[in-house]
Amino acid sequence: MSDPKTTLVRRTPWPQSVTAPIGTPLQPSVAYTAQDADALDALYTRQTTGFSYAREGHPNASVLAAKIDAMEGVQGGILVGSGMAAITAVMFGLLKTGDRVLGGSQLYGRSLRLMREELPRMGVETALADPTDPAAFTAAITPGTRLVLVEVVSNPTLRVADIHAIAKATKAAGALLVVDNTFTTPAAIRGIDVGADIVLHSVTKLLAGHSDVTLGYVQASDPAHQKAIYDTATTFGLTPSPFDCWLAERGLFTFDLRFERASSNAVALADALADMGPVARVLYPGRADHPDHARAAELLQGRFGNMVTFEVDGGREAANRLIRAAEDLPFAPTLGDVATTLSHPASSSHRALSVTERAAIGITEGTFRVSVGIEPQEFLLSAFGRAVGAV
Ligand SMILES: *Cc1c(COP(=O)(O)O)cnc(C)c1O
Repeated sequence: MSDPKTTLVRRTPWPQSVTAPIGTPLQPSVAYTAQDADALDALYTRQTTGFSYAREGHPNASVLAAKIDAMEGVQGGILVGSGMAAITAVMFGLLKTGDRVLGGSQLYGRSLRLMREELPRMGVETALADPTDPAAFTAAITPGTRLVLVEVVSNPTLRVADIHAIAKATKAAGALLVVDNTFTTPAAIRGIDVGADIVLHSVTKLLAGHSDVTLGYVQASDPAHQKAIYDTATTFGLTPSPFDCWLAERGLFTFDLRFERASSNAVALADALADMGPVARVLYPGRADHPDHARAAELLQGRFGNMVTFEVDGGREAANRLIRAAEDLPFAPTLGDVATTLSHPASSSHRALSVTERAAIGITEGTFRVSVGIEPQEFLLSAFGRAVGAV
């Protein structure tokens, strides 16, 4: 009999079972043992497959990556610790000092900061242009531009990029098109169908779907680019947690149902809001009064998504009255949760911009962005009726 103190610090063999679990196993191990040095060599030279150290890869990340690959119709994507980690891995994996990057002027807030502050600090030149204006945007793809980063539908005004024109001009310039597909999701549009060289996601949002995971995904069509991105992610330590990957995979089981329900709720809510007196403006790409409706209809094929933006008059005071009356709607600056959440860009995602800069992209103190969830429609319409009524 071995000393119990020894037993305690040694791993117990996994119980034998003639049955297999139907749930996905969770594997938090940091390190993996190999039979001998030759087996490790074979692993590192990719003659065999397997895992050695969790920062370099683990089973729960592989399982999740394969599912998102399937959604995007691609292969070889990887998971990283957040959506921003995915963007960082692309930038630092593929750029060098002196390169130039062009981004959409309405990118996610932290992506804008990366463009404005971090990349220039590393000697990368950056510029921003309006992706809904194809002439202006394609003119900004100057020689020396190595990467072009766009979101198809922008936050929070839900403007729709002329992605086909951008893809064509990016290719002609010999640059790489990076599509941040977080907002739209592959259920509405796939990176591969719009000519993306690289597609990425904040898995944190609709894909995981339950506001309890922070993860990113990135896939490059060129294997050399994918390897560079992987090496950067691994070297910079942009590691995804196995538990987060396990939770996100669990979230994906219901993605299709959640997306359908949330989108049909969004259609109904957008129309209902437009009929409410205090609402000055509703922005939803599925509505005929949206400035990019025709482009959205062609690109998204009826899958206009779960995000609705609206505006009330009366400044900060009216906005606060609405928020306080919206007791059943969590006031939180995120999106893609199963529950409907309400956010106020002027005091959260876009607070770093001046009033004039905000006005230029259509954000006022009365602008609200709604991430529509999967609640019964009647609940949503009455909750918004009460909130807007308080204005
Ligand atoms: C949230 C978000 C990100 C960043 O993702 P994190 O997982 O929060 O790092 C990037 N792009 C878009 C469009 C987002 O909505």
